[in-house]
Amino acid sequence: MTDTAAATPVPSADEAAALADDAVDFCSRLIRFDTSNYGGGESRGERACAEWVAGELTDAGLKPVVLESAPGRANTVVRITGADPAAPALLVHGHLDVVPAEPSDWSTYPFSGEVRDGAVWGRGALDMKDMDAMMLAFVRHLQRTGAKPPRDLVFAFVADEEDTGEYGARFLVEQHPDLFEGVNAAISESGGQSVPLPGGARLYPIAAGERGSAWMTATARGTAGHGSKRNDDNALVKLSAAIGRFDRHEWPVRVVPIVAALLDGLSRHLGVAIDPTDLSPLGAAAELVSGTLANSVNPTMLRAGYKHNVIPSEASAALDGRILPGTEAEFFATVDDLLGPDLTRTGDYLPPVSADHTSPDFAAMAAALRAHDPEALVLPYCMTGGTDAKAFAALDIPGFGFVPGRTPADFNAWQYVHGVDERVLTDSLAFGARVLTTYLMTDPRAFA
Ligand SMILES: [Zn+2]
Repeated sequence: MTDTAAATPVPSADEAAALADDAVDFCSRLIRFDTSNYGGGESRGERACAEWVAGELTDAGLKPVVLESAPGRANTVVRITGADPAAPALLVHGHLDVVPAEPSDWSTYPFSGEVRDGAVWGRGALDMKDMDAMMLAFVRHLQRTGAKPPRDLVFAFVADEEDTGEYGARFLVEQHPDLFEGVNAAISESGGQSVPLPGGARLYPIAAGERGSAWMTATARGTAGHGSKRNDDNALVKLSAAIGRFDRHEWPVRVVPIVAALLDGLSRHLGVAIDPTDLSPLGAAAELVSGTLANSVNPTMLRAGYKHNVIPSEASAALDGRILPGTEAEFFATVDDLLGPDLTRTGDYLPPVSADHTSPDFAAMAAALRAHDPEALVLPYCMTGGTDAKAFAALDIPGFGFVPGRTPADFNAWQYVHGVDERVLTDSLAFGARVLTTYLMTDPRAFA
């Protein structure tokens, strides 16, 4: 059995205060860079922000590199040398881009970084300049204390997560894989934040997997002809029939291991058996489960025809498919079955990813959370969508979603991510910076 208290270093009260001040200040300053990502290669501000981050890292005595993937798109990467260079390294990545914000909808200018009413306000406050700020605060902590983390840490501040990652994580993976040598695990967004449980306890879900995405185009072909003539081979009719089949299909419930671990842990904690078809006993935590019990396909775009009186020879639909880890073969067999013999499919496929929630790293994250919140219930969960973790999976680096934070039950962070009046509570940033520091200073081998 591990002596987790000895293995889990907690910053002193003075250091905790300095970490909190730095995290709030860095978050506010990062938000003031408008790094809106409009998609399709269009963005602003990423290079300026990446260079500013590099300046802060340099001031702290590190040697970052700024890597431009396209004009204006840049990524900053730095390796922090650990006490044991032979130990596997940890990658910590945060994106610097944000989704756009419409100022007229907001109660404060979205790129103000205003600190008011116990929160830092602005686009990116929760997605994910909060984490970028905590990473920078940790670097300052190392500089102040002269401490060395137990293993090498690679910090990557990347562009383009809010679109395809082509100019960010995917660019780094394809063009600069050497930067990630020796890395055997990663942490980044979507997880580690408190979720209130019925009865008052706090769940900290750590993402240990992501559904895959299959962005497919289904195409039906038929016989073109005059719109006034009978046509038994109409591409539009075939396509609509297939869309109807997708709509009627009930994707079977598949409780994959990560979701089973979450349900088991919640069931044990709450003292009730949980039926996956009735998540009501879980309260707010139901949202962590509901989107990951089955695969899904939604039609999102249609294309057919060019004139009112012409039956076109082709009709196509965009289908957004999401796939649970371990169910890929079943997913595509079902899709082809529903498409039927008349339709073809093409498209992009990003496989699901998962990380081991029984690993020493997961245990070290859980211990760091419990060191700062003794009542924390820490469990893995699977994300419905995707992050840059999929890009780094190409280098065999399993990724966890771990951006620690603690909020009162009435603060629903999910409503602000990509929403209006996005803000992060300063207490949550302070808590997160302490937990992150504890985790980054923990040697996961103590939990092996
Ligand atoms: Zn994000």
